[in-house]
Amino acid sequence: MLHDKFVNKYIVTGILVNNTPLHIGGGEDEFTPNAVDNSVVRYKNGEPFIPGSSLKGVLRSYIERILNSGYDERFSSCFIVNEECLSDKKVEALKNDSKNEKDFAEKIYDNMCTVCKIFGSKYFASKIHISDAVPIEKIYTGKRDGVAIDRDTLTAADGKKYDFEYVSPGSKFNFYMTIDNLEEAYEDILKLIINLLAKGEIKIGGKTSAGLGDVQLKDYKVYKITDKNLKKYLLNGPSEEMRWQNV
Ligand SMILES: [Zn+2]
Repeated sequence: MLHDKFVNKYIVTGILVNNTPLHIGGGEDEFTPNAVDNSVVRYKNGEPFIPGSSLKGVLRSYIERILNSGYDERFSSCFIVNEECLSDKKVEALKNDSKNEKDFAEKIYDNMCTVCKIFGSKYFASKIHISDAVPIEKIYTGKRDGVAIDRDTLTAADGKKYDFEYVSPGSKFNFYMTIDNLEEAYEDILKLIINLLAKGEIKIGGKTSAGLGDVQLKDYKVYKITDKNLKKYLLNGPSEEMRWQNV
């Protein structure tokens, strides 16, 4: 169902800890061994942080892979990068078949895969929003040697070393995620996302294949706002009585 009014809002708060060194480069998510500047992404005041868009990106691709492996037949996923669930041709056909704009929007929504419905596509805004994870306490960083990779042969270039900066393991960041107007049928995807984070399954940033970037969500709380407690939430924020009991 497509909603143009408030139905519900899920809020996940907690502490995100990196269990291994973490390198998220400034400007890009992907680690580029040949880049000149291999420092971690920082605010203007010098504080390192974890961009919410990076977290959302890795969660999306993880969920895509799981759903594509036949994890649960209720849910579907396209590969948004190279094989979208809605081709331009299909969109054109749906448009021709629609009575009006609203009908068209509903047809588009119905034809999107589960992942696009939740994480967004070029036709629909994302239901999920993850804020930049801001340090809770002072963050320490270090530098490591890496081996430069030859672009053509993809092997280690002779003797070429470079430094890259990392956030020290055990650093703590505030985690804040919301999902708006999630269909109850998709609540299991939200549970999956929370479990992946809580079990430390998510790897983020560069050099994850070398063990970097393991992050884990700790001390988390999940709230569900509905029309019944919306007013209270808007006036006073989330409270214990709004806790979602299903996780
Ligand atoms: Zn899709």
